[in-house]
Formats: sequence, C-alpha cells, structure tokens
Amino acid sequence: MAPTSGSPATQIREILAAARLEHVRYAIRDIAVLAEEVVRQGHEILPLNIGDPCQFDFETPPALIEAVARAMRDGHNGYAPSLGVPEALEAIRGEAHRKGIRDVQSVFVTQGVSEAVELSMAALVNPGENALTPSPEYPLYWAVLAKLGAELNTYSLDESLGWEPDVDDMVRRITPGTRALVVINPNNPTGAVYSRRKLEAIAELVREHNLVVFADEIYDKLTFEGEHLSFAAVAPDVPVITFGGLSKAYLAPGWRVGWVIASGDGAALKPYLEGIHKLLRARLSANHPEQYAIRPALEGPQDHLPGVLRKLKARGDLTVEFANSTPRLGCAPPRGAFYAFPRLEISSGDEEFVQGLLREKHVLLVHGSGFGQAPGTRHFRIVFLPDEPTLRRAYQAIAEYLKEHYT
Ligand code: PLP
Repeated sequence: MAPTSGSPATQIREILAAARLEHVRYAIRDIAVLAEEVVRQGHEILPLNIGDPCQFDFETPPALIEAVARAMRDGHNGYAPSLGVPEALEAIRGEAHRKGIRDVQSVFVTQGVSEAVELSMAALVNPGENALTPSPEYPLYWAVLAKLGAELNTYSLDESLGWEPDVDDMVRRITPGTRALVVINPNNPTGAVYSRRKLEAIAELVREHNLVVFADEIYDKLTFEGEHLSFAAVAPDVPVITFGGLSKAYLAPGWRVGWVIASGDGAALKPYLEGIHKLLRARLSANHPEQYAIRPALEGPQDHLPGVLRKLKARGDLTVEFANSTPRLGCAPPRGAFYAFPRLEISSGDEEFVQGLLREKHVLLVHGSGFGQAPGTRHFRIVFLPDEPTLRRAYQAIAEYLKEHYT
C-alpha cells in the first residue's frame, strides 16, 4: 500500500531472533509440526512421541484433583511464597528422607522440573562454561544450556551395556570449565535404570572435579524391578540437585509442578543456593493452588502406582518383543519410565525415516538424532504409553514400512 501523505515511508525489516537460539532444539515438539500437517490431510496419527500419560489411559488421582480444587476454593489464588507453600516443602523434605537423602540444604517448588533445570543451571553456569549432559539425552538440558550461552559437552551412554553411562568417556570430557554433570535416572530416552556401582563410580569422579550433580529423578517411582537408587543417597557428601515432580508418577503434567532437593555439604553449597533463591524470588512463585497436591501425592495412598506399573511393564515388554523380532531393529529392554530407544540399522538418516513413516503410515516417533547418538548409529524413541492394541497397530505399521523401504 502506498504511504498516505504525511506518514513517513518506513521499510519493514525482519526481526531476527537472538543468535544463541541457533542451538536451541526440541525435536520432540518439532516433529509434532509435521504431524499437524498429516492430521490436516485427514489422517489419524498413532502418537508414540510424547511423554504425557494423560493423553492415554492414565488418570490423575482424584484425591490430587480434589486437593487443588479445594485450594482454589480456600482462596489460595494469589502468589505463593517464592520457595513454595510450607506444607508442600515439608512433604518434599519427608520424601527426601524416604529416598535416603540426608544432608538436605534446601527444598523448593518450581513450575515443573523444566523450570527447576533452568533456574539451577542459570545460577551455576557462566557463559562459556559447560555442564556434562548425556548423549542421548532429554533435550531440555541442551536448550537451557544454549540459552545461557554455555558450551555443549556430552558424555556417552553405552548401548552395549543397556545404556549405562560411560564413566571413562565422562573423564575424557571434563574440562576446566565443567561445572556440573547431569544424570537422568530412570532415563529418558532409553528407559535405563542405573546400578549402585555405576552411581558410585560417577560420585568418585565428581568429587575429584568438584562438580555439582543434577540428578533428574522425575521417573523414580516408575521402575519395573527393584527399587530406584537416588544419587544423593548413594553419595551424601556430593553437592546434588535432585529433581522430582507431579508430571509423571502422579499423572499431572499440565499442572506444571516440580521440586528440587538440594543436598550435600552446607558450607560448600551456600553461595550457590543463595543464587538459586535469588532467582526464585525474581520469578515470584510457582503455580499456587497446584502445590497443594504435593502433600497428598507424596504422603497419601500410592494406590494408583501398581496399576500404572503393570500397564507400563506390559507395554514395555511388547515394545522390546517387537523391536527384537523385527529385521533392522534391536532394543535394550527399558527398566523404568516409559521410553525405549531402538537401534535402526539403515544407511539413510533416522530423521528421514521418522518423517517418511509419519507421512506414509501415520505413526509418530521421534528420531534418535533429536536426542544425540554415537556417530554412525541411528535410533528412534518410542513412548510406550498408548494401550496395547494401539501399540500393536503402530508396530505392525513400522515393520511394514521397514519392509517396503529398507529391504
Ligand atoms: N526431565 C525429564 C527426564 C523428562 O523426561 C521430562 C519430561 O518429559 C522433564 C524433566 C520435564 O518435567 P516437567 O513436566 O516437570 O517439566
């Protein structure tokens, strides 16, 4: 349109995003954009891509819903204290005790583990420094570190050892700028659960290099055999930031409730925790009424869990059976969470595979390269939350797609 008389002729220029966003990737949601296109074309998608139990046959425990509704009716609708409401903090301290974590220096509530990771990293890592993250990894950590202007630095998870961390590789990767090490256990995307021996070996290394451990234990109650070992319980002297929340075992990801248990030597942790507390105050508070679900979740009956675990174990077994009986696939059995990370033996890329499968068979996976993987290897991540008939349909479609395109 021609400028009207009197108004200046301005030229509209592109508004560029900050350069540091170049490294921010989140393949799990990115692939969903292509899925939307497939849906618009009128196809039904078999969604094996997103770790939200509420989209499948899992329901938020009614007692937790009632606790949040009651909190709203009771007028807990203003800002909460920055660290969290007292009854939630007390319940988290109780949970730390049950997990065997002793030297607790601080607990606080966040908007999901996602915000907890963001704040805990921001308070620790300077631009140009790094935190060692696993490869493959849950990409939240890369995204946060990229935003902070940190260097990306990864250690390998060893597929031949059921995806246990490769401690020798950790040693090789530590640099003078390494401030922290991330341990996701039970693991997303592999479903691995780590042994005491492995956690002890990692603890020895972090002691030597004075690192903070970020122990992401959001899936701690979702293990299929044996009890989960908390990193902070295995290494009480090490500074550990343990993450937990309501999104997974308590089936309420949309409430955005997470928490942190900071443990280790009090004097050593003091300046760092003061930094975290400052950031907590600067963002006012986490969601308020939803925090009132924390005490009933952690202290109330856990009677939804056996049913959840039964379903997950059966669906995980079905997944492994499929992957290990289908040509060009192979899979280390998941021992917790709701993810499997099968190997894909094809010569082209796994992103191309995942996109082709979505377009032709309408099965939605996430490509292994979205999580990081050893050079020359290819994988995809399966979320085995859908019911067994849905998983069977999806697995048959994947097998057909492989046969049609990769024999
Ligand atoms: N950490 C891991 C390992 C996850 O898999 C997820 C979600 O999938 C999160 C953190 C995010 O948790 P929240 O919903 O509490 O932000």
